[in-house]
Amino acid sequence: MLTFKNRTALVTGAGRGIGKAIAETLAQHGVTVICVSKSAESCGAAAAGIVAAGGKAKALAVDVADGGAIARAAEELLKEFPLIDILVNNAGLTRDGLLFRMSESDWNDVLATNLTSCFHWTKLIGRPMTRARWGRIVNIASVSGVMGNAGQANYSAAKAGMIGLTKTLAREFAGRSVTVNAVAPGFIKTDMTTEFVNNPEASAKILEVVPLRRFGESADVAHLATYLCSEQAGYITGQVFNVDGGMAM
Ligand code: NAP
Repeated sequence: MLTFKNRTALVTGAGRGIGKAIAETLAQHGVTVICVSKSAESCGAAAAGIVAAGGKAKALAVDVADGGAIARAAEELLKEFPLIDILVNNAGLTRDGLLFRMSESDWNDVLATNLTSCFHWTKLIGRPMTRARWGRIVNIASVSGVMGNAGQANYSAAKAGMIGLTKTLAREFAGRSVTVNAVAPGFIKTDMTTEFVNNPEASAKILEVVPLRRFGESADVAHLATYLCSEQAGYITGQVFNVDGGMAM
């Protein structure tokens, strides 16, 4: 049984897919969860689902690609929750294309949403965490950031950046007992991958490089992320864990 001592978590991208599964799993362990997503509908529904199941949750719509919006949201939030013990940087998007066809706005949008958002949230939420001398930060990267992936220069760069950020912050925060780890999912069945999963030709090609020969579920990622946020994971920091059916061995 994992232990959480009356903790509060902020999970970005908690409206759907992997982030929603992480928010729900943390809530099942008694953690109060602040569910952040871009649209009020999606984080509102996720938080309402947690509350309906007997958990504690709050919804917060923030565009994480906008550093000013994060700063305003965090200022308000810290009045209500002076200490957020757990931060899961999960919000992300893809804008795929080969480099020569990739626009600068697709590059910037992906970097801002996936990577720069982690810089802003960690600076704001991480300060009280380090003062409290206990914290857990989990960054949801991708195997694309570990292996590279043709057609995803922007996304791979952002996810590799998250891994570098994870390792550096693990070193910066270690003296304060704040751990920082990354999870790198492979192909997980969510809205992000629907077009591949639902295309028999594309999915057969993908599964050729997945030794376990199936797509992952959001819960596969959520269980590991929840463990990394628990009391029990206190001696693990600066690591990258692939949840990818064996793709990036
Ligand atoms: P998803 O189903 O598309 O959900 C993405 C979530 O991120 C949504 O809740 C969305 O908010 C939120 N989001 C996107 N842009 C945002 C913004 N600008 N501001 C605030 N929230 C924003 O994606 P997923 O598959 O669960 O992916 C979650 C994370 O895992 C991402 O970082 C992704 O890169 C990573 N990942 C996924 C896979 C995979 O196979 N699915 C593989 C490797 C890594 P709304 O609900 O409001 O739209």
